[in-house]
Amino acid sequence: MNVSVAKFGGTSVANFEAMQRCADIVLADNSIRVVVVSASSGVTNLLVELANGQQSSAQRLDALQAINTIQQQILTALGTPESVAASLSQNLELMQQLADAIALRPSIETSERILSLGEACSSLLFAEVLRQKGATAQQFDAKSVMRTDSLFGRANIQLEQVKQLVEAKMQPLLSDSIVVTQGFVGADEHGNTTTLGRGGSDYSAAIFAEALKADNLQIWTDVAGIYTTDPRMAANARVIREITFNEAAEMATFGAKVLHPATIVPAVRQGIDVFVGSSRDPSAGGTWIRDRAQADPTYRALAVRKNQTLLTCHSLNMLHAQGFLAELFAVLAKHHISVDLITTSEVSVALTLDTTGSSSAGDNLVQPQLLADLEPLCDVTVEQDLALIGIIGNRIASTAGVCAKVFGLIKDQNVRLICQGASPHNVCFLVEQQQLETVVQSLHHALFE
Ligand code: ADP
Ligand code: ASP
Ligand code: MG
Repeated sequence: MNVSVAKFGGTSVANFEAMQRCADIVLADNSIRVVVVSASSGVTNLLVELANGQQSSAQRLDALQAINTIQQQILTALGTPESVAASLSQNLELMQQLADAIALRPSIETSERILSLGEACSSLLFAEVLRQKGATAQQFDAKSVMRTDSLFGRANIQLEQVKQLVEAKMQPLLSDSIVVTQGFVGADEHGNTTTLGRGGSDYSAAIFAEALKADNLQIWTDVAGIYTTDPRMAANARVIREITFNEAAEMATFGAKVLHPATIVPAVRQGIDVFVGSSRDPSAGGTWIRDRAQADPTYRALAVRKNQTLLTCHSLNMLHAQGFLAELFAVLAKHHISVDLITTSEVSVALTLDTTGSSSAGDNLVQPQLLADLEPLCDVTVEQDLALIGIIGNRIASTAGVCAKVFGLIKDQNVRLICQGASPHNVCFLVEQQQLETVVQSLHHALFE
């Protein structure tokens, strides 16, 4: 049996009309047997506020009311079928209880349970939308198969166990029914709810596709594919019709929000083609991500990531010393921080922190305890308000003139850090966030228009 996994993001399942369009996409393609949904647009942001436990009871009530309105409007449009209405109320009541509990006593386990409820509601409602259009469809609880470790808020997938659980519990359902499940959500070995970090539904869908050895993975979102840069930032950005796994992985890593950074890894492991398209306008086509693409241009796209933190670690002990970086990295690893860009000099190391896989609750990575742990090792300067720009393409490291061209185009900018050479597919640098749009537009104009 051919199996495709289709993922619909927050705006795609924002309301009843949007869900109808997604259902039409599913029903037009017999191979789509697994549907992975995000929470309806805006819901996870509200849940993050609730999970922080810092709101007044009035603010809490407002947030719960806003979520209620979004979900109840969809239920009403569906004609309030009894069983769905009952399950939805259970989820909304649980949300209120957990929000009240966390306001009294912080708990990371409770926070995870709160964050997971947006996808619980949207998957319940979307399965009903499919049924009302005549499909056999059932909601399936991702927590029963998406096994993770217990790193709450940024949980890591336990792949072998997920594969076994999917084979035993999900695969057998697919011959008779379309399965609708939550993105972003998993559970650890003790049954505690976990989440995969913001934007994690893409990653969930890719893991399901890998576990099911799917023929393809479809990411349906609010843009008609992967563009040469974020279309919100450059009006002349255009869709890339075909792109390789390597290029797409670099784009996702360096900030193209259209794909969660980890999405491509499972697809590469299993050789699964990935499609990205707009659920609002499926006829517009989209982008195919494959092992190989027909063209391999030097400049493919420009990825952007805002709110970067640059740590500069300075220590005279570093001079001719061995093991300094190992010690530094050990401290960062202890705080579960993944380093992103790095450059070194004789007595200092500058590095950016990988915030893309950041915790679901959006905690700041640079906590006082991290700085305290680094203090015996080095003097640390923390700079914020920077943005990362990644120029993605092919043979970047070995093509003469790339740096002259790129940096010539932005010669008036204060470029804070440059990384090039580790991958043939990118050159990355930091600029001041204030300058970001100007820099992106002038680079895009010169390289892609
Ligand atoms: P979803 O809720 O469907 O997961 P996201 O908001 O996470 O959608 O991702 C889609 C958004 O990604 C687009 O609206 C667009 O602004 C942004 N984006 C950033 N870079 C790119 C790019 N290179 N191509 C397309 N979209 C991009
Ligand atoms: N709902 C989650 C978020 O907003 C996961 C996702 O949409 O991918 O981050
Ligand atoms: Mg997303």
